[in-house]
Amino acid sequence: MSSQPKIIRKLIESIRAHQTFCVVGHMRPDGDCVGSQLALTLALRNEGKDALCWNQDPLPQKYRFLDPDRIIEQPKAGKKFDCVIATDAATFDRLGSVGECVQDRQVLLNIDHHESNTRYGDVNWVSAKSPSTAELIYRLLRAGRFAITKPMADCLFTGVSTDTGSFQYPTTRPATYHVAGDLVARGANLALICDEVYQSYPLSRARLLKHLYSTFRLTDNNRIAYFWLKKKDFTRTGAESADTEGLIDHIRDIEPVIVACVFEEVEPELTRISLRSKSHLVNVSTIAAQFGGGGHSAAAGATIPGKPLSVQRRVVAAIRRVLQETHQTQCKN
Ligand code: 5GP
Ligand code: MN
Repeated sequence: MSSQPKIIRKLIESIRAHQTFCVVGHMRPDGDCVGSQLALTLALRNEGKDALCWNQDPLPQKYRFLDPDRIIEQPKAGKKFDCVIATDAATFDRLGSVGECVQDRQVLLNIDHHESNTRYGDVNWVSAKSPSTAELIYRLLRAGRFAITKPMADCLFTGVSTDTGSFQYPTTRPATYHVAGDLVARGANLALICDEVYQSYPLSRARLLKHLYSTFRLTDNNRIAYFWLKKKDFTRTGAESADTEGLIDHIRDIEPVIVACVFEEVEPELTRISLRSKSHLVNVSTIAAQFGGGGHSAAAGATIPGKPLSVQRRVVAAIRRVLQETHQTQCKN
């Protein structure tokens, strides 16, 4: 163990020293968040610990296969924990209502890979170089010699796969493939994961895609692309806000586009934005930060109050400023 980084040793010591745990993740959980939470919770339970696993928002349909025993629950007030572990959450606020329900604790561990992480824990392992939190959880479990069972391998593989865009994002590094390879060797069910996560879209999502393709807009020499998801679009298509993960890739992946943005109506005067960048010169996390949000250089988000059109104008203007600063407004062709 002595060759392990100090921070990992500290986390393992803290886990060994406590008995009651709550493993928590961010609002609108994604594959990396729930994969990390579930694997860690299962590991703690295998060690004889009392571990709960809480999320404010429900598990998106495509990840339900990872949690057949419904380990993930909504938070309850009045519980007491020795140790709370947050995974994949850049700020304490991102835990949403879970944050209020885990106040009675001795220690808060924060394990994350967001550059913008505010280091809100008592112990913080923030590794922005890691493409997923699941990769960090894998390293933690291996270092602590916790067993990685097949269901845990499924959870971690899902986290690694979804947060790397199926091993495509530039954050993907040799270690990512080693981790993924070892998880497959330990029994991760690739066929099941690919089927459930990538090849089982509900029809409602296809209807939402139709809406996306017929309404998306391009601006600034096709360098900026965006579309809106209004409440009525969800009602009309039967889709849920939890099922929008990955829609933004459809405009991000257009060749001239450098920055993609999705505007989602939360309330008439509250808009959630998702941002993606395809250029290492354009850091969308700093754009999101201008609106009180955060994330990674290539993927970020924020929730912004104001009239929808005004929000759109301000966000597009902020993206434009960054593109102009980096001289990325001219057509390459
Ligand atoms: P998505 O667009 O997929 O919702 O989020 C992209 C990335 O930005 C994720 O890593 C997510 O954690 C982060 N993110 C999204 N919304 C917010 C926000 O409101 N605040 C912060 N700090 N990060 C966010
Ligand atoms: Mn993540």
